[in-house]
Amino acid sequence: MLGAMSVFDDLVGQDTVIEPLRAAARAAADGLAGGSSGGMTHAWLFTGPPGSGRAEAARAFAAALQCADGGCGHCDACHQVLAGTHADVLYVRPSGLSFGVDRTRDLVLRAASRPTGGRYRIVLFEDADRATEAASNALLKAVEEPSPRTVWLLCTPTAEDLLVTIRSRCRLVTLRTPPTAAVVDALVRRDGVDPDAAAEAARAAAGQVERARRLATDPEARERRSEVLSIPARLDGIGACVAAAARLYELAEAESKATTGALDEQERSDLKAAFGEGSTGKGVAKAVRGAAGALKDLEERQKRRATRIKRDTYDVALLDLVAFYRDVLAIQLGAGVELSTAAHRADLDRVARASTPRATLRRIDAIMECRARIAANVHPQIAMEAMTSALLLG
Ligand SMILES: [Zn+2]
Repeated sequence: MLGAMSVFDDLVGQDTVIEPLRAAARAAADGLAGGSSGGMTHAWLFTGPPGSGRAEAARAFAAALQCADGGCGHCDACHQVLAGTHADVLYVRPSGLSFGVDRTRDLVLRAASRPTGGRYRIVLFEDADRATEAASNALLKAVEEPSPRTVWLLCTPTAEDLLVTIRSRCRLVTLRTPPTAAVVDALVRRDGVDPDAAAEAARAAAGQVERARRLATDPEARERRSEVLSIPARLDGIGACVAAAARLYELAEAESKATTGALDEQERSDLKAAFGEGSTGKGVAKAVRGAAGALKDLEERQKRRATRIKRDTYDVALLDLVAFYRDVLAIQLGAGVELSTAAHRADLDRVARASTPRATLRRIDAIMECRARIAANVHPQIAMEAMTSALLLG
């Protein structure tokens, strides 16, 4: 983060939305300075496919709104917003599948108060589509009549995931799946990854920047993915299917632990940096007290997030399997497309020869069904056993 030119630098492959966001932040600053704030809106909806960085974009915009310099990336306001410790930015990340009306009312109330020291009171609501119907109605009222210094930043996969009445009051920011070249560039430039390794990771991650970064920088993550992809060719009997489901479950658990650990550590050090800066003499005691409270908040958020990451990780493993069968299908149909699991060519060929395109489509359906069941709270290992049985070769 240090030395960044702007808070928007870390958004990969999203050039088309960055300029409008910058312009809106400038308009907002003009408005605060007594000028016209035309172009500023109090409710925003950030949408985009998983891994496109919806929440990161919303967070960067929140920093740009709080920063006196439009999101310089190095002032206290920018640091605090990016580290999740800014007193006037309320972060909401539903940990369960739904977000209820009581919590929403509480949020609306807290959002309505004046900023305590920042320029705006900002609510950054990730996965706002998890708001229940009653919660959405509470949200609608807040979005309809926002306090003059309150800004709502809602994030959902698509605009259709929100009540049309809320959606119509939001300015829409649509992120795209970053092109492979943009992901490669970010990995090389920012993480110092060798270009060939970056290209391979970017292809494997299919536009998910964080996933690509982990694959490029963590050999164990690469190994886990490779093991997941080696499963289809080994499913030659019921015993193998049951064992594969158990192993898939283990791999996903290991992956989620690694992800959670890395994120937690980074945030703790960001938090320490945010509180450590500028506190000398009398400021130190105050900073220490503030840091203790913020640390407790952070730990609670991290616990909730761990639950979500676990669910997301099953999904990553299942999507890797989908990618494998999509490649199988491409081989069966003779489509000359780039294979995202090309490193497993021998297995791809073997499965392609042993089945028909129709069987491959059925297998992809079985994986999608497994995803849906896990999302509906079926125990992952049980859902995975049903899936691997459907993937049985022959
Ligand atoms: Zn700044």
